[in-house]
Amino acid sequence: MSFTVAIDGPAAAGKGTLSKAVAAHFGFAHLDTGLLYRAVGAKTLIGVPAVAAAEALVPEDLLADNLRTSDVAQAASKAAVIPEVRALLLDFQRAFARRAGGAVLDGRDIGTVICPKADVKLFVTASAEVRAERRYLELSGNGQDVTRDGVLADVKQRDARDRDRTTAPLVAADDAVIIDTSNLSIEDAIARAITEISAKTDARP
Ligand code: C5P
Repeated sequence: MSFTVAIDGPAAAGKGTLSKAVAAHFGFAHLDTGLLYRAVGAKTLIGVPAVAAAEALVPEDLLADNLRTSDVAQAASKAAVIPEVRALLLDFQRAFARRAGGAVLDGRDIGTVICPKADVKLFVTASAEVRAERRYLELSGNGQDVTRDGVLADVKQRDARDRDRTTAPLVAADDAVIIDTSNLSIEDAIARAITEISAKTDARP
């Protein structure tokens, strides 16, 4: 039986950590849909047109070790504006969401476009400053040469591009539960998400 949890929100809001923890707690599979766009973005940086990159995408592309850089994130958000790119990635995401045993997908448009009938929709957010600080610590901790100002600018630029695009813009679904992590520890955010999901799994027939 399928059970879909949609987790959306802006860049560096903590969706990844939250999604992994929730998936592990409930024994669900997890798909970080941002990786699909990052894999396409990475290809565009070596000259492949975005649509051709999306058409040729294979699961191994998601394992490339350069996908977590700011350059790739920017390229991903530029590719993500193109409707054909989004359409090419749709079936894979929907099939993943329907898999037996439950699935957690995190991204920008999961609750609005990919899985509008998801069993649970969470919209995870935080102020741009808090998100940028967390991302700065993550990237500099991984040895990447970044500055606080540079990461804040990157986050704000991607937010604007994701929110303002015509196709599948970043917006909370009407029926999403908003979790603002600006003043929440990651443990508290995870506990909050588990409470929301448990309320729905317990109500299953
Ligand atoms: O989540 P992450 O920061 O890895 O996503 C990289 C970029 O991919 C985002 O800035 C966004 O433009 C795009 N994206 C998207 N839809 C998704 C997931 C990511 O447009 N479902």
